[in-house]
Amino acid sequence: MSSIADVRTAVSEARRGGARIGFVPTMGALHEGHMSLVERARSMTDVTVMSIFVNPLQFAPTEDFSRYPRPIEDDNRLAGDGGVDILFRPSVDDMYPVTRAITVTAGKLGSDWEGASRPGHFDGVLTVVAKLFNIVQPDVAVFGRKDLQQSALIRALVRDLDMPLTISLAPIVREPDGIAMSSRNRYLDAEDRHRAQALSSALRAVRSAYDSGERAPSELEKIGFSILRDETGVVVDYLGVIDPETFERPVRASASSAAIVAARVGKTRLIDNMCLDGDGQD
Ligand code: AMP
Repeated sequence: MSSIADVRTAVSEARRGGARIGFVPTMGALHEGHMSLVERARSMTDVTVMSIFVNPLQFAPTEDFSRYPRPIEDDNRLAGDGGVDILFRPSVDDMYPVTRAITVTAGKLGSDWEGASRPGHFDGVLTVVAKLFNIVQPDVAVFGRKDLQQSALIRALVRDLDMPLTISLAPIVREPDGIAMSSRNRYLDAEDRHRAQALSSALRAVRSAYDSGERAPSELEKIGFSILRDETGVVVDYLGVIDPETFERPVRASASSAAIVAARVGKTRLIDNMCLDGDGQD
């Protein structure tokens, strides 16, 4: 369904019947990563709502908004097969009428790393997520750790604006060769697809140096960079060891730290991250 009023009606009918509502916001071009979030929502709640909305507010004019993949039929099928009960596909005009005046801003937590590389991106994300939460009014919303800084900001949004829902974070789903699943992997040709393995290889190298006892963030970062530097066609945007709550560099890396990376592979910008303690929470 595409109308805000229809989704509100469907959700309130479900709620009247006593159902708890789970919500999975996406931009579509669905893959197993997205479907793992649906599975998680289904295990925690009774009715699962998925939104598919390519949000213009979170793309800079130079980015890929217009060519972002929109495989509508495939997405309908995957959502149906995966057990999505309500599929919400709002239009840009319904989400952003011309009268719009308010934007949610990310502040310091959204200013470094991904925020520094994509100015305004997180304001766009937080604004659309706040709107979607108000429309769907879920009990639980499920996000992926794949977008680690985004997930920290969304937890802060819910905490700081007293939104009455729980945020659940799901681990990163990877391809057999280690690449994090992403809608943007569709842009990669065979050669770039192969080169893209360097991102997860670099993160694994950081993790294994941590396992071997290295605790200095700058040394761990050097080890990650050395893997990426050797890969032609891969241009690093950032690679850092951070605290996943604050996104600041710790003085010493600890089990709760994460390594994050963003790089351009050919024309495609990819991001990935890994927890340093390797407990499968990446
Ligand atoms: P997107 O459609 O890229 O906006 O992503 C929608 C949701 O799916 C976000 O919460 C992402 O973090 C999550 N997601 C994307 N890729 C993956 C993945 N490989 N594993 C787990 N979650 C993912």
